[in-house]
Amino acid sequence: MLNRRQFLSAAAASAMTFARIPKALGAQQTKYDLIIRGGRVIDPSVRLDATRDVAISGGRIGAVEPTIAGDAAETIDARGKLVVPGLLDIHTHTGRSPDGPKLVLQDGVTGWIDAGSQGADRIGDIVAVARSSLQPGRVLINIGRAGILPDGDTMDLARADVAAARDAIAKNRDFIVGVKARLSRDVAGANDREVLRRAQEVASSFGLPLMIHMGQTVSPLSKLFDLLKRGDIVTHMFAPPPNSIVDDSGHILPEVLAARRRGVRFDVGNGQTGHMRWDTIGAIMKTGFWPDTFSTDWATNSRSTGVIDLPNCMSKLLGYGMTVSEAVARVTVIAAGTFQLFHDRGTLNVGAPADVALLELREGSFEFLDNYKNTITGRQRFFPSGTVLAGKPVPRA
Ligand SMILES: [Zn+2]
Repeated sequence: MLNRRQFLSAAAASAMTFARIPKALGAQQTKYDLIIRGGRVIDPSVRLDATRDVAISGGRIGAVEPTIAGDAAETIDARGKLVVPGLLDIHTHTGRSPDGPKLVLQDGVTGWIDAGSQGADRIGDIVAVARSSLQPGRVLINIGRAGILPDGDTMDLARADVAAARDAIAKNRDFIVGVKARLSRDVAGANDREVLRRAQEVASSFGLPLMIHMGQTVSPLSKLFDLLKRGDIVTHMFAPPPNSIVDDSGHILPEVLAARRRGVRFDVGNGQTGHMRWDTIGAIMKTGFWPDTFSTDWATNSRSTGVIDLPNCMSKLLGYGMTVSEAVARVTVIAAGTFQLFHDRGTLNVGAPADVALLELREGSFEFLDNYKNTITGRQRFFPSGTVLAGKPVPRA
């Protein structure tokens, strides 16, 4: 039972609640900076896939509701389009060109990671591009101190220079968010395991993730994957045999399953050569061992390769049983968990940075290319249609 004082204070509290109602109704008339109206909002972070309005103010998501009554300085008519959190591409080479960030922004990419374009010697080149990028862009340092070399980054083992990499990271802590080790036969040769060991030594000493480039290695995966820790990323996970993650009888290798169980992430890394072949993809998808993230391995020539753009790469597994929402999750909420800088992105939650991608999901007959000139035909493809960055619509190029 309430005594008189408790009763009065409870009554006062409920009166206060009641008194707030007209104010709350008033709040619905808020003038927003921008309202994106009537799109199919897909936000896998809250399992939302429905027609919604999205209101933005002060560079943050203000509301996501069936109908938002408030007024806005600017309105985007998104009817017939998908409205999704800004796309995050965790394996690109955006930093190789000063125009890279602007180009991928047109594709809906509001956060990017340059994965190992440069090593310690010229990491400043990539950091400078990241620093001037409109959207958040960060860098993985190549363990090979001279970066990507036509003759192989670490064919000369002396280039896998632990001290030089550590020094470069220490000087660029705000922009270097991990380490990259490229391990193919023509990149590291028989040095692959030692290169990986050194890259991990560097990454671990800063508590940073390591991304490895798998496929076409001299060493089998069992000799490499045991060096990976929780939060590390394996890119090019669809690489065909001889060092595929799936065996001839269609089973995922035990060391691969063990790696995922302890928190190693698996990424697509579309790329152009040697990373994807439809028959291997089919076999892997059938096992249910699906990628955590899509990424493009983007370069300035991607428009004219099978990559095209991140939305195109997102479309490729729709024919292997992936839903539209599952595809969106792999470039939004799941990708956001990969690097700390994206921790509040990949979502349209109220209060999140207002980065939004507008996509068209077209129906028809679309050809998708692997890295071996084989094509498959899909019935659906995502096309970029608009980008909102920090609450501001990005002009279409
Ligand atoms: Zn790459």
